Amino acid sequence: MKIMTSIRMFVALALASIVMTVTAQDDRFANVTIETVPVSGSISMLIGSGGNIGVSAGNDGILIIDDQYAPLATKIKAALEALGSDTPKFLLNTHFHGDHTGSNADFGAASIIVAHENVRSRLVAEDSPALALPVVTFDDNVTLHFNGEDITLIHMPNGHTDTDSVVMFEGSNVVHMGDHFFNGAFPFIDLANGGTVQGYLRNLEKALSWIADDTAVIPGHGPLGDKDALLSFYNVVKDTSIAIRVKKSQRMSKEEIVAAGLGDEYASWGQGFINEQRWIETVFDSYPR
Ligand SMILES: [Zn+2]
Repeated sequence: MKIMTSIRMFVALALASIVMTVTAQDDRFANVTIETVPVSGSISMLIGSGGNIGVSAGNDGILIIDDQYAPLATKIKAALEALGSDTPKFLLNTHFHGDHTGSNADFGAASIIVAHENVRSRLVAEDSPALALPVVTFDDNVTLHFNGEDITLIHMPNGHTDTDSVVMFEGSNVVHMGDHFFNGAFPFIDLANGGTVQGYLRNLEKALSWIADDTAVIPGHGPLGDKDALLSFYNVVKDTSIAIRVKKSQRMSKEEIVAAGLGDEYASWGQGFINEQRWIETVFDSYPR
């Protein structure tokens, strides 16, 4: 009898916490507004909650890059309507993370989803609904000819994850970096899903070699940037990685390196999603001894 009572109480508490979690999630998005930032040419950027959305709006219609979280789909569509249409012809995913693909199922019935083949396989592995899956996939790169310019997705192997691409808008002189750019913050590198710090740095070097001094650079997270901002980010990732690796090679433990810290000059970079400790741990774990 006592056991039954405690089981019932446990179930009641568990249900209550599920209800609270759902409410908290709804609340989390209730106050989010979608801000539209003009970038260059026919390209805009939408800022809400989750990964920044890129938009191409023109005579051919609307193409978007990434779509944040499902509870924001209605607000995203309202922002797109103001740019011409709430129904994109194409939806490109920079990678598979839920803060970039969360609204895929809301767009998938009317929009053609394009992404690297590993985006599809990882979304399939997560039991995502069929409507959320990319229907056009590629291995190395693919170009769309839309709104009067070439829009090219280029795979960035084993960087942020093993599913990433950057998107180059040739005519508008814009690149969407996905999560290969956290503007002003240490990056999240998803070692559990094929990401590596080594690949991340290589990918950044490639992207920096492709873009011009005046190319507008949309980050996965943070404010709109340019080549200088991307270069600063690259230098921080590179310099702190080297510092952490040197300490590791001197047989310092992860805890000792965290305790020693990276120095005041990097304090602002640890204010985002990834604090200094997590960044040190990521680099430590990404490199063999
Ligand atoms: Zn991500």
